[in-house]
Amino acid sequence: MSKSVLDAAHFHDEHAAYAYLESRIWPSGPVCPKCGGCERIGKMGGKSTRIGVYKCYQCRKPFRATVGTVFEASHVPLRLWLQAVHLMASSKKGISSNQFHRVLGVTLKTAWFMSHRIREAMKVLGMEPMGGEGQIVEVDETAIGRLEGVPKQKAGYAHKNLVLTLVERGGSARSFHVDSTSLADILPVVRANIRRESKLMTWYKPVGKEFASHGAVAHSKHEYGRGEIHTNTVEGFYSIFKRGMKGVYQHCAEKHLHRYLAEFDFRYSNRVALGIDDVARADRALKGIVGKRLTYQTPHH
Ligand SMILES: [Zn+2]
Repeated sequence: MSKSVLDAAHFHDEHAAYAYLESRIWPSGPVCPKCGGCERIGKMGGKSTRIGVYKCYQCRKPFRATVGTVFEASHVPLRLWLQAVHLMASSKKGISSNQFHRVLGVTLKTAWFMSHRIREAMKVLGMEPMGGEGQIVEVDETAIGRLEGVPKQKAGYAHKNLVLTLVERGGSARSFHVDSTSLADILPVVRANIRRESKLMTWYKPVGKEFASHGAVAHSKHEYGRGEIHTNTVEGFYSIFKRGMKGVYQHCAEKHLHRYLAEFDFRYSNRVALGIDDVARADRALKGIVGKRLTYQTPHH
């Protein structure tokens, strides 16, 4: 019988959990988060010392691998954080706070904080534009959830949140919560995130005209694309996103939508078809915990 991924020591033992995290975020050895030094660092031992504590003899400050990360200031054992990251990274449609609460044995409030912090870790900062010469990027939009205070409409999207997604065929996905599908809202996003040399697939002609070439995709979903002219890839992304948002998350406050988008973008951009398995995907999320300590304190559901 093959070994279960969940048998790994870092999911059960706090020492192993720190060793695992350190090897992921400090590939060349410990780095002091206060002064950035890496030369004069010693590991603190002894029974009274907490696990994973180092001391920097340059600035005389003790630190752990979790300092300055989304795990900082949390009382949750690191091994549970690693379990949570693995679960969220490997669950195709996401995992609810309720399930974290039941599986990890933490309170619902803690589970909620953990899940948003992991989403923050999955967020990619300072992204280069996607696409390039010969690359195809699909652009589409979808409506999700309800806007607060806007009555439900019989037709149209006025009462829903709008999402704009860019997907590079054979590559990654980037989603944005936009105010409208007007040119003024879409064009700046497209310009900042897609290289002009790309081939653009969009139903939105004024956007496509800015690119090396573009395929005008019929906006009606009843019309099929011709050859490479289609937006099936981004529609596939939306189908997973919608199944997750409806089936797993159910409620999502408007102000948190960007966090869920980061989560679905992350899993898509690090998918098996690109050679990234569950363990490698969780490791990538772990690398993303650095430098993103969250400051908000008020829980909302
Ligand atoms: Zn230091």
